[in-house]
Amino acid sequence: MYRRATAGATPTGRPPADIPAELLPHLALPDPGTLPEERVTGRACVWGGGSLTLAVAIDLGERVMEGGQHWFPQACGPCLADHACKALFAHVPACSLCTDTARFTECEIGRGLDRLQKRVRRMERVGDCG
Ligand SMILES: [Zn+2]
Ligand SMILES: [Zn+2]
Repeated sequence: MYRRATAGATPTGRPPADIPAELLPHLALPDPGTLPEERVTGRACVWGGGSLTLAVAIDLGERVMEGGQHWFPQACGPCLADHACKALFAHVPACSLCTDTARFTECEIGRGLDRLQKRVRRMERVGDCG
């Protein structure tokens, strides 16, 4: 069976509703095989495990795990802001654009993660992760 390359895009299914799809590969999601059902189905925050209501859940799209099963990660605002921040810190030192003070504004990923982190903090979608 043909397998679509996963680099730089959501592998398949539905793109995330609430965040730019190109940023998703930079956000380290836990291995869905190790997660309880409520985090795989999006009823709980994929990172912190707190329960999510529709009003607070941030959609991270539909994903496909090893073996082809679909899963639906969602997050609360504070966890997503935290992971966007970590992704930014991991990305910047390895990026030739982001480390160039004259050109850092040209990096879509660096700017995107920074914008995402700020936007999510303003959304005040506080979940139940404590
Ligand atoms: Zn959370
Ligand atoms: Zn960059």
